[in-house]
This record gives sequence, C-alpha cells and structure tokens, in this order.
Amino acid sequence: MALHLFNTLTNRLEPFVPLEDNIVRMYTCGPTVYDYAHIGNFRTFVFQDILRRYLRYSGYRLDHVMNITDVEDKIIRNAGQKGKSLREYTDFYIAALEEDARKLRLERPDRVVRATDHIPDMIAAIQKLGEKGITYQSDGSIYYRISGFPGYGKLSKIDVAGMRTGARVDVDEYDKADVRDFAVWKAPKPGEPFWDAPFGPGRPGWHIECSVMSMKYLGDTLDIHTGGIDLVFPHHENEIAQSEAITGKPFVRYWLHAEFLLVEGQKMSKSLGNFYTLRDVLARGHSPEAVRYLLASVPYRKQLNFTFDALQSAATAIERLRNFRLRLETERFRTGENPRLTELAGEARRQFEAGLDDDLNTAQALAAVFEYVREANTQMDAREFLEGNRAAALDLLSRFDRIFDVLEVSREGRLSTEEIERAIQERLSARKARDFAKADHIRKELADRGVILEDTKEGTRWKYS
Ligand code: AMP
Ligand code: ZN
Repeated sequence: MALHLFNTLTNRLEPFVPLEDNIVRMYTCGPTVYDYAHIGNFRTFVFQDILRRYLRYSGYRLDHVMNITDVEDKIIRNAGQKGKSLREYTDFYIAALEEDARKLRLERPDRVVRATDHIPDMIAAIQKLGEKGITYQSDGSIYYRISGFPGYGKLSKIDVAGMRTGARVDVDEYDKADVRDFAVWKAPKPGEPFWDAPFGPGRPGWHIECSVMSMKYLGDTLDIHTGGIDLVFPHHENEIAQSEAITGKPFVRYWLHAEFLLVEGQKMSKSLGNFYTLRDVLARGHSPEAVRYLLASVPYRKQLNFTFDALQSAATAIERLRNFRLRLETERFRTGENPRLTELAGEARRQFEAGLDDDLNTAQALAAVFEYVREANTQMDAREFLEGNRAAALDLLSRFDRIFDVLEVSREGRLSTEEIERAIQERLSARKARDFAKADHIRKELADRGVILEDTKEGTRWKYS
C-alpha cells in the first residue's frame, strides 16, 4: 500500500499523489506568537514533523512553508499591555519557540515566514478581492462577503442557509455560531499598530495572512495544508474563500487536521488554563524525547489525553529500544543467521511502513517495532540471535528513528563527564568487592542515560551512544 491520507475536504481516506512529479508543496499554519507554545500546540507540530519525515522517507521532495503569525488580536493586546513594539514582543516568543522545537527535534520547515514581512503582498491580495467585488468597506475595515462565494462551508461542512447576510465579525477567532462576513483588513483602534494601504490604514486579518503567504511561495494550488482541528472553521474555511476567489482554482488538494491533546477530557488550551508548556514538563525532570514520543505515539486523528503516567510510559518505551540497540551494538553473537528472525525483521519493516502508509498510523508502526524487539530480545537471551541477524535489526531501528527520532539521548538529558567518571569508579569498587549485581546495575543505569562502557586491558572506556 502506498501512502494514504485522510482529507478533511472530501471526508475520505485518499491515495496521496502530488500535483507535480514527486515534489510535495505543503503549508503549515504556524503558531501565533503571543506566549510560549504549550504541548497541545506541539502535538500538532509533532504530527506535522512525522508527516514531513514520512513523506521524505517515501521518496518525495518537500517544499514546506510554515508561517509565524506575528500580528493578530491577542498579540496586539499583550504587546500593548507590556508597552512593547510588535517586533520586540514577538521576537522573544519566536526565539523561545525555536528553542522548544529544537528540543523536540522538529525539523525546520524549508521556509519559515513572518506575517509582518508580507504586508504589501496582503494589501495586493485585498485589492484583488476588491476588484472581484467580493469585499466591502465599513468603518474603515474591509470585509469578505461570504454569500458571494458559492463554495463557502465546503471544508467545515457548515450550513450557510441560516446565516445572516451582511452581519460582520471583527475578531480573528470565532465559532460556527458566528458564521458571518469576516474582516480581511481591520481599521486600527486608537493606539493600535497599523500599516498604510491605498484603502486606508489598518492591519491584515489573520486569515488573509495564510492565504497570501502560502500562495506566494507554493503557487495557487498546494498539495497539503495542515493545522490543528480547531483551525478548520473559521480559519481554513476563510483561507479557501479568499484564495479561490482570487485565483479561481482549487486552493488545496489535501487538508489534514490533527486532533486535540486533552487534559482530563478537555482541550488543552490557554483560555482554559489547563496547559503545560514544554518548559513546565522538562522542569519536572522529563526528557524532550519522552514528550516527542508520547505526542507521536497516538495517531494524529485520535484525541490524546495527556497524563504524567503516559509520559513515564513513553520514557520506558524509549529505554527499551535504547537498551535493545545497545545490545545490538555491544554483544557478541554466534555466527550464522536465524532465518525466522530474518523473516520477522522483514515483516516488522513491512508492518511499520504499512502503518504509516495508512494515514500515519503511528500506533501500528510502533507495535510492529516492539513486537520484533520483544522476540529478538528473547532470542538473544537464548543465544539464538545470530551475527547474521544484526544488520537487519539495526536497519529496522534506524528506519524507526528516521521518523520517531528518540533514540539519541539529548544533550539536556546527558550525564556530564564528571558524573560518568564517578559512576565508573563506583562500579570498579563494586567489582573489587565482588558485588557484581551492583556493578551490573551501574552499567545498566549508565546505558539508560545513553552512556556505553567498554572494559579494556587499559581500564574502562566510555562513549555516548
Ligand atoms: P495557535 O498558536 O493558537 O495558532 O496554535 C498553533 C497550533 O496548535 C494550531 O494548529 C492549533 O490548532 C494547534 N493546537 C492548539 N491547541 C491544541 C491542542 N490542545 N491539541 C492539539 N493541537 C492544538
Ligand atoms: Zn493559517
């Protein structure tokens, strides 16, 4: 089976075929930088990272754009309260975001673009909408007349029959009860930042930002557009209305949306106050790899309930895989090849890929790897894992890590040289005292933290795994 993706637009699982050759043009709605991102936001970003990695694993080239929304209602409010300029305020949170993203090993999209660097492009797009007669001006703001776009509602399946024509909404975020004409350009309130435009001073609405930045870099029709499920309405519905009114062409071929990260059954969100930032979680001693693993382990279209127990299980799962890799790298096996294990490794790889091909079913992909690891460990204990089985096992782990990327111990989680030397001395003393259980325990603890020991004639050498 080749890659299939669930398309919110058609409400179906579809084979994925890019518009042109093997290049995938993909746009991701990036963060609104008014505060630190929480791990709910990162669930969506981790999903996007898994998608990116699996597209490349499957042989596609990527042109992936992510925007940063650095002008929007909440940003203007917060920056104003702190007496900071938009740039000053948002630069801080962008830097924080990049640091968090690095810790979570999120690959950087090919282009990361800021809304405020594209104001002239947005003004031009708003002028085009004006020429098509689909916008109107009111009190200095410009609104998109949704009754003028016949396809309005096709993504969110919203019923526009009952909508009040001519009723307007000014805020960037609103829900389905407020299906109304939305602002593409907002007149500044007193004290608010603004840009000059031929149609009067103001600032862009959130939705026009993404229509403009995606089409500028990726063309009129994108292959994939992603975001969290809460962006389907109104954000993505409005992006379609704007983009398709301008070009007359389909805007996006595959719309992909990640489900929520929950806390006790409720969406993790700033407004409910039930959120953890990555910093909060790491400060409690958890590793970024465990967070990444947990967020990636549940298929993206299923809700995922966050608990610290689940985070602990994620850490245990990673440890199991690291220990298995350590065995593969350090143990001696008898010569020959165990044909059953060879077959199992092949089957694990097939199941791993079949899982990911099925709309990125990460749970299936992980199950395939763990099933193999369990059996291989048993065979190692029984001395039935042979030298000829080593390469396929390492290959499976490396395929796993190209997507999940949790096997290397991050710098934050690494022991210092002094800590390692101290542990080695302790182990040596234990051995001298013939307390081999303790010595083994120390060796294993070091292995869990990504430090491999090698006993040589000259003494014990160590390296980071
Ligand atoms: P924002 O910075 O609020 O625009 O959100 C950035 C991304 O995080 C968007 O794609 C949201 O849909 C997504 N998001 C927000 N809250 C959650 C959550 N609890 N679970 C998963 N994704 C979320
Ligand atoms: Zn967007």
